[in-house]
Amino acid sequence: MELAWRSRQRFLTVARCEKYVCSSCHRSYKRKSALTSHLNHECGKQPQFLCPFCDYRFKTKSNFNRHLRTQHLVTACDRPTQE
Ligand SMILES: [Zn+2]
Ligand SMILES: [Zn+2]
Repeated sequence: MELAWRSRQRFLTVARCEKYVCSSCHRSYKRKSALTSHLNHECGKQPQFLCPFCDYRFKTKSNFNRHLRTQHLVTACDRPTQE
């Protein structure tokens, strides 16, 4: 019980007092992991995934793969590899 209480206290403290704010675009996140993910995948990033068929660009591989599947009926392993 004590452990649960402590983690709950910690959670409340974080939620109330701390925000994780991106220094570039000032988006704020409650969880550090969300900010880290934002920094790694979104913030200031050019879309890294360029569709070879229609020049659409995607920031995330999952969006890219979904686009390939739905728009071009291509699965990830069939597509040409891009380095
Ligand atoms: Zn940002
Ligand atoms: Zn496409």
